[in-house]
Amino acid sequence: MPDALLPGSTIGIMGGGQLGRMLALAASQLGLKAHIYADDANAPAFDVAAVRTLGDYGDLAAVEAFAASVDVVTCEFENVAAGALEAASRAAPVYPPPLAFAIAQDRLTEKTFLSELGIRVAPFAAVSDAGNLKDALDQVKLPALLKTRRFGYDGKGQALVKTEAEASKALAELQGTPALIEGLIAFSRELSVLVVRGQGGSTQFYDTVENVHQNGILAASRVPARISASVAFEARTIAGQVADALHHVGVLAVEMFHREGAEPSLLVNEIAPRVHNSGHWTLDACLISQFENHVRAIAGWPLGETSRHSDALMTNLIGAEMERWRALAGEEGTALHLYGKAEARPGRKMGHVTRLYPKS
Ligand code: AMP
Repeated sequence: MPDALLPGSTIGIMGGGQLGRMLALAASQLGLKAHIYADDANAPAFDVAAVRTLGDYGDLAAVEAFAASVDVVTCEFENVAAGALEAASRAAPVYPPPLAFAIAQDRLTEKTFLSELGIRVAPFAAVSDAGNLKDALDQVKLPALLKTRRFGYDGKGQALVKTEAEASKALAELQGTPALIEGLIAFSRELSVLVVRGQGGSTQFYDTVENVHQNGILAASRVPARISASVAFEARTIAGQVADALHHVGVLAVEMFHREGAEPSLLVNEIAPRVHNSGHWTLDACLISQFENHVRAIAGWPLGETSRHSDALMTNLIGAEMERWRALAGEEGTALHLYGKAEARPGRKMGHVTRLYPKS
């Protein structure tokens, strides 16, 4: 077993969004301090951190100095540049491992990695230019999604294409940005599995989550998912396989499409090497949340119990939806979480609510 960080140690978190904020709160519950490194003076995580550094992620000397001042470094967003992870690694252990970020940051590398593990994904093919678009479409079939390889999240960087002409137009609009084309999956529901893996390689799983997306953004998550025990077992097995292959440490989210009655019924869409929006319900419906378990894993502590004591429905408060905070705060059986963001821009995650129900 690794040496556990002692209470009073400092967790360095790259990124200052709501995930960093909830990680910092979980760390403080365990008597650990959080040092947030973020590039935005209004970062929501700054409000709850013991130490803050305002800096650019490209300022490698500043990132290394930040890492030298903490006991372990983690990240709350997956698009952190490899150079920044490398700079941090020179001064402190970095968890999850940089390999997990390298794979999750590039949709083509990610799908190739999963396929090589024998995990099923949507049909996909790289497209670089008009010259190989036809070959790619032959492999994938229309309708399809044209996605940028990098910097896609919440449905950004993807276009639905139904004809070859639409695909050519969408590709031209990318102006040479590396892309892939992916078959459109007719799924029954979207699922995610949150697995936490410790430094010694042990894993624990939260119950499989059923997710509803609107405009590519997660709108709601419910637990339990409406799936059979055998599908839940298979989903968990896949997530564990990915976590082991990455030598992951911390929480890993594996997002999947479930096609009822089809073979194979589960296709992995993407992985996120971090705590995840679809695990927010664990704050209120589990003894130990995904945030606390991530902190435990990177600090070398024993992992905490992941079982749920209640059924839960988590709903994101996006943009102006947060104006309902007063009514939501007064609602029975409901936990309200607001992220302290000043400006409620459309599409921006401002908070979430989790409604609890007796365990089914
Ligand atoms: P992504 O940015 O890849 O996470 O996709 C965001 C959302 O778009 C997913 O959660 C799905 O709702 C939808 N989506 C992505 N890829 C596909 C696909 N191949 N087939 C059908 N829907 C998809």
